[in-house]
Amino acid sequence: MNKDISFENLLAKIEKYNPGFDSEKIIKAYNLADSAHSSQIRKSGTPYITHPLAVAHIVADMQMDTDSICAALLHDVVEDTEYTSEDITELFGSQVSLLVDGVTKLDKIQFSSKEERDMENLRKMFLAMASDIRVIIIKFADRVHNMSTLISMSEEKQREKARETLSVYAPLAHRLGMYKIKWELEDLSLKYIDPVAYHEIVEGISQKRQEREEYIASIKRDIKNRLTQLNINCKIDGRPKHFYSIYRKMFTQNKTLDQIYDLFAVRIITDTVSDCYAALGAAHELYKPMPGRFKDYIAMPKPNMYQSLHTTVIGHDGVPFEIQIRTKEMHEIAENGVCAHWKYKEGKTRPEDNMLEQKFQWIKQLIEFQKDAKDEKEFLQALRIDMFTDQVFVFSPKGDVLSFPAGATPIDFAFGIHSAVGCKMQGAKVNGKIVNLDYQLQNGDIVEIITSSAIHGPSKDWLKIAKTSQARTKIHQWFKKENREENIIKGKDMLEKEIKRQGYGALGLTSSEYIEHLVKRYGFSCTDDLYSNIGYGGVQLTNVISKLKDEYKKNNTTPEKKLLEITSETPNKNSKSSAASGIVVKGVDNCLIRYSRCCNPVPGDKIVGYITRGRGVSIHRQDCVNISALYTDDEEKKRMIDVFWDDNKEEFYLAHLKIVGTDRNGLLIDIANIIADCKVNVKTLNARTTKDRMAIIEASIEIRNINQLDILTTKLRNIKDVIEVSRNH
Ligand code: MN
Repeated sequence: MNKDISFENLLAKIEKYNPGFDSEKIIKAYNLADSAHSSQIRKSGTPYITHPLAVAHIVADMQMDTDSICAALLHDVVEDTEYTSEDITELFGSQVSLLVDGVTKLDKIQFSSKEERDMENLRKMFLAMASDIRVIIIKFADRVHNMSTLISMSEEKQREKARETLSVYAPLAHRLGMYKIKWELEDLSLKYIDPVAYHEIVEGISQKRQEREEYIASIKRDIKNRLTQLNINCKIDGRPKHFYSIYRKMFTQNKTLDQIYDLFAVRIITDTVSDCYAALGAAHELYKPMPGRFKDYIAMPKPNMYQSLHTTVIGHDGVPFEIQIRTKEMHEIAENGVCAHWKYKEGKTRPEDNMLEQKFQWIKQLIEFQKDAKDEKEFLQALRIDMFTDQVFVFSPKGDVLSFPAGATPIDFAFGIHSAVGCKMQGAKVNGKIVNLDYQLQNGDIVEIITSSAIHGPSKDWLKIAKTSQARTKIHQWFKKENREENIIKGKDMLEKEIKRQGYGALGLTSSEYIEHLVKRYGFSCTDDLYSNIGYGGVQLTNVISKLKDEYKKNNTTPEKKLLEITSETPNKNSKSSAASGIVVKGVDNCLIRYSRCCNPVPGDKIVGYITRGRGVSIHRQDCVNISALYTDDEEKKRMIDVFWDDNKEEFYLAHLKIVGTDRNGLLIDIANIIADCKVNVKTLNARTTKDRMAIIEASIEIRNINQLDILTTKLRNIKDVIEVSRNH
């Protein structure tokens, strides 16, 4: 057995960071694991106990508590031997037992062959299933050791495990701020995903390291000397960056190893925060900093709590290198992330431990204040596993991952897939077994819905069982459709009332001739279908009426009929008789006038009239694009008619303005004030900001004539930060 990972060494390692720990409990755990696994051999040929022991060492490297160490030693016992979790509870207490159960449960999630789109849900499920973050830490340790002993597996298995590690484990380690584990996992995976590149990088780095050994040593010496002069206590480290990050750089930037300069980073660990900044000053004194490469993660920690100063400087030989500066506590958090939280939790509290705890609080609070940070949500979800107690993640038989609110049932699942599945649901299987429909879905369940063509819709009781509004809405919808008799009567009534309300009662739109036509247009098989659809809202009433009106107009297209129709039509805001409108139509005393919505003419504009088919004369500006288009058509040209403004009328006209400016506080208020100053009434006002911080304000205003509009436009243009004011079509 490798002496480094012997059990004696494990105890010595723990003693160092947690003096006076409960060694008896750990010895008991080791002995049980040793005897339970005694008949088992790993694929590599070594006794099985080497695995849990190595995992416990990794957990101890992260300075975790006694229960975590015990659970690490016992993590495969319940799964692989005859011991049960009850045995573990009895012998080691419920905490250890929960941790072991948690690790065992995580083993059950199958990640391989999942689509990338499912990965985020899988990562969440992974966190959600581990009720305690220590479970994740032990699972990470387990993975690190398994990855480092992959060599005895088949090549296919190796690649599968490596891919899974890269897509699930490494991103989670990153989110939890456990960089040491993350880098180890990434480097171990790279070895199997791209062995050629991996060895190229490993050899290249070691060669470069020898070449640059003296150079890095001289940098370390220079910094150390300068900081000693300044009375700053520090530890300086010069190390190559981890392989996977170099690999990614080579790939994304298409570079060879020789073209990547910052293969090495110098790290300065100080005692206090002010020393960090002092060290930064010293470094910038010694070496020329590269502009734009300084990052202050101390003042602005990363969402996963990472804190450090980063700067890239140019060495004496002209080659840039990165310097990272942080305190011991920050370093602890940078290496082990959330684990740092447990470091001193156990046993006696020392004053400095409380300080770390407080620092942690401070960081947490600070992050909570960064409400708009994109990773904010991710951070909280990652750190506080109980955030997920309101969500449950399950698989479809095909392996898709779906998420539901906690307490969701197979009914929610069925309607979540498709309402057709829900409406034909006969029963459900979870993990291969038939369950009641009120069964509450658990993380990791594989849910299968049994459908039958003999089923005609959901049961009313399901409304009480379903947890999602989606399922409930769909069940409601089905019942609405189902109450056919009621809906037919209701629909017919609704249609008749609305026709009367809109003033078309006299047109005979509900006669069978028109209704039959509608049934055809909607593709229904009978009039009752049409009415019941109106009744439950399957078709929109406004849509039905506009179709009826269209049909009526088609049947009544002679000019005489048209005129009759025009005068009977209820006037709306945009249509007025010419006598009241402020418009004189050449040769016609009184006809229906509409101001076009495309160009919104106002008095003073040069205008032209267009005789519409059935809606009176519409007034356009002469420069209106729609009108110019019509001039090219001889038929349409005949419909043009001369119109003039009647100067004796006091009328208001709608004009649309578009104001573009540089976005700032108060811009909208300034604009609104100017409009009010000009005694102009605003109908609508819309403001939005573009990505490049431009404000676009669109206003519909009522004005008397073009002069008033000109004055207003000039005033608006004079507002600070307004760039352009234009008439909007
Ligand atoms: Mn294991």
